[in-house]
Amino acid sequence: MWAHAQLCAEYGAPFRFFSTKDALSELISALLSHRTRNQESHKAYQQLRARFPTWEEVRDAPTADVQAAISPCTWPEQKAPRIQAVLREISARCGGPCDLTFLADMPVAEARTWLESISGVGPKTSAATLLFSSLRIPAMPVDSHHHRVAQRLGLIGPKVGEGPAHKLLEALLPPDWDAQQVYDHHEAFMFHGQKCCYFHSPACGRCVVLSQCPYGQARLHGAATPGAAK
Ligand code: SF4
Repeated sequence: MWAHAQLCAEYGAPFRFFSTKDALSELISALLSHRTRNQESHKAYQQLRARFPTWEEVRDAPTADVQAAISPCTWPEQKAPRIQAVLREISARCGGPCDLTFLADMPVAEARTWLESISGVGPKTSAATLLFSSLRIPAMPVDSHHHRVAQRLGLIGPKVGEGPAHKLLEALLPPDWDAQQVYDHHEAFMFHGQKCCYFHSPACGRCVVLSQCPYGQARLHGAATPGAAK
């Protein structure tokens, strides 16, 4: 993809993976992080692990105790029962302890489908579980920054939401990319959204992909901007 090399060079790829969690821990961490600041979801995760050392203990605990342990994150009253339901479903499907290590033996698409068939697990969570965890499987999450940059660059249409964007953007990646390349791609697009292609007033004048960006070109040259994010 044409923007990949420029954005990777701009933000200093290859990037170090930030997580060494096993896949199940990464999945629970992703569920906790939904619409929560990193610092708060990290605190909720740490408190949960300190209170319940195993995922089986979280699964079987009174829901009120799980809710109290994850109180720093948003909507603990919704996330506690959801996390327990996810753990119960994984245990039932696997017929034993809570563990997702077996996903490493599946093709990427199959592993994603397996995860996304669990209620409450969408494409971003499944991709984050596979890529960010110690499994290091090349599935690509699309967060709000990544999504906005991709829309403005014209890689996806202006009306494509974050969920449907996963399949479309993944289809643009070379099929032989490994986890590091997919991770670099996601991180570079995310950094670009955080550091240059802001939601309000993107800094198109200093953007390294301006020459190929229809949104930035239209914006700087006074033409009507394509219908992507503001
Ligand atoms: S040119 Fe502007 S709109 Fe396009 S990617 Fe760069 S910052 Fe975003």
